[in-house]
Amino acid sequence: MAKYTPLIPHIVMDIPASWGKEYSTARGVYDPDTRTVHVRPTSDKLDELDTFVHEAIHSVNPKISEEETEELAYIIARVLWKAKYRKI
Ligand SMILES: [Zn+2]
Repeated sequence: MAKYTPLIPHIVMDIPASWGKEYSTARGVYDPDTRTVHVRPTSDKLDELDTFVHEAIHSVNPKISEEETEELAYIIARVLWKAKYRKI
């Protein structure tokens, strides 16, 4: 278990406004400098889960292409959703 701990990013439910226009419409961002996943809260919880998974994939392996990251996140989020995983 401990060998994976360094791969687990910090989680922040916000994208700071101070980051500017570039991030104003982003649903999520992974900041490699602070190893933090930032997710903008939304009422669409499946979309929010998809964003978490997407940014988590970036945090674990930033070399995976954006397209492949989107595809993996889409599938993993829906598998978790189908298994009834929800944010509490
Ligand atoms: Zn991405």
